[in-house]
Order: sequence, then C-alpha cells, then structure tokens
Amino acid sequence: MNQTRREFLTAAASFTVAQTLLPRVSFAQQKSTRIILLGTKGGPRVGEAGRSNPSTLILVNNVPYVVDCGYGTSKQLISAGVALNRLRYIFITHHHSDHNLELGALIYNAWITGLPMRIDAYGPPGLTQMTRDFFNYLKFDIDTRIEDEGRSDPRNLIRTHEFDKPGMVLMNDDVKVTSCRVRHPPIQQAYAYRFDARDRSVVISGDTAYAPELADFAKGADVLVHEVMYLPGIDALVKRLPNAKRLREHLMAAHTLPEDVGKIAAQAEVKTLVLSHFVPGDDASITDEQWAEGVRKHFKGRVVVGKDLMEI
Ligand SMILES: [Zn+2]
Ligand SMILES: [Zn+2]
Repeated sequence: MNQTRREFLTAAASFTVAQTLLPRVSFAQQKSTRIILLGTKGGPRVGEAGRSNPSTLILVNNVPYVVDCGYGTSKQLISAGVALNRLRYIFITHHHSDHNLELGALIYNAWITGLPMRIDAYGPPGLTQMTRDFFNYLKFDIDTRIEDEGRSDPRNLIRTHEFDKPGMVLMNDDVKVTSCRVRHPPIQQAYAYRFDARDRSVVISGDTAYAPELADFAKGADVLVHEVMYLPGIDALVKRLPNAKRLREHLMAAHTLPEDVGKIAAQAEVKTLVLSHFVPGDDASITDEQWAEGVRKHFKGRVVVGKDLMEI
C-alpha cells in the first residue's frame, strides 16, 4: 500500500468515526468505483458541438484511470471535476488518433498544473516513442520553463509500459487491470481493458468489430462500455464523401453494429451495457432509441446510450 493510499484510508476512517452520530452523508454512500464518459464520439474529426472525441474515466477510490486520450480529454477531465494534477494512470487501447491525439498534451497539461506524482501509461508498442516524440516536439518550451520557472523535468514524470500480448496490465491495492486483443483491422495491436475493483468490474471494448472473445473477457462484468456503429447513419455519411466506398469498407470491417453489441453483452451476461464511441458520432438525427433498438433484440439487461460527462 502506498503512502497516499494509506493516508486516504486513515483520513476516510477518521471521517467515518466523526460522522457516525450525524445523518448519513453522500460521501459514505458514494460508490468507490465510478465511470464517467469523457468523450463518446468515434473518429478523429472534431465536432462543432455535442460529443467530444473518445475517452473514458474510471475513478477507483478517487484515483483517476483514463482510458484513451482523444482530442479534448484534458478539458473533459476538468469538466468531470478531476484536476489535471491528479492524473495517475493512462491506458491506450490502440494507436488510432481518436484514441491518442491528446496523450502528450494531457501529460503536459498535468505537468504544468503541478503534477506531484508519476504518471504510468500503458498501451501497445509505439507508446514510448510517441511520448518521446511529443517531448521533442515541445523541447523548446519545456527546456525554457525548466530553466526560467524552475520547474521539474516532465520527462521524468512519465513511465510508459508497452505490451504486445493480452493479459495482466496492472495490479495495485485497488484494482486489477487486464487486456484482451480485439478485432480492429488493419490494426493488429488493439485491446479492450477490464478493471476489476473491489465493488465493481468494468470492461472498455476499445474499437472492435464483432469479437466473441470479448464476451468471454467481459464475462459477468457489472458494466461493459462498448463501441457501436449505426449502419443507416454510415450510409447517409458515405453518400456525402468522395472516398465513401473505402471508408465504408473500413468501418464495416473494424466496428460493431448494434445487434452484435447486444449479442456480446448477452453472452457476457453483464448487468449494464453502455454504448459509446458512436459512429457516426455527430449525426443528431439518430435518436437514442435508434442506437439501442438493435441492441435490445439480443440483450435484456440495462442499456445506457452514452453521453459526454454521463456517470454510470
Ligand atoms: Zn476510434
Ligand atoms: Zn480505431
């Protein structure tokens, strides 16, 4: 158990004792594992309004675990009430830019906010080089601020952990994090993550086509956050684009239709299915009911049509 965690427990224990004669407060009732959708729009294009690019926050005993860093993640974390200097763990599912564009910037933003601790970042090969390249990109600024403002060197604050096979990713006192390879051609190194905390288990699908192995991986989880693609929306989208045929082929091979998301959730027997990473993510004419309709053909549990900053 690390120092901060021990301090937290001690503080929490004395808080509980002090509060025993008072009416129950929301702090005591609050779940210790919280899930907040930071960005729910699939794809790298920045929307004019509505959904932000992909990122999901899991708070375990108030420690933030950020899964994917699409553009806007720093802003969304602040909107979710998480100060950037609290950043501690980052997980990247795969190296499409809607999942990593703000990785470097998020680390930078945490540093400039006065990050007291190290950040550990996990993901497929390429992560370490990408972080290094980001620091080179900002070398002038970083070196200037170290010299001029007496700041610490951010290059020492980040530790990257690459993996190229599914399995155990991280284990600490609060949570066990494991990964599962998913199907996202042409990218081979694409993963889903599972967080098993004491009170809840949560699976984030990452980007994937229908992958029955994901159902095994998510077996019995309390919450499955799964990507989703709506075919009539895709067809409306590709009609407007010059490279329509190629794009449609990519989307069909690499993402999951609502009916198949429902099958995965049913096979996995999860309690709650949360739809996120909507493709297309900025077509306001698609209703929540349309997103969920196909899912419900197969899955009889609770279905949540995700929105930015929604907490589950
Ligand atoms: Zn994506
Ligand atoms: Zn992708």
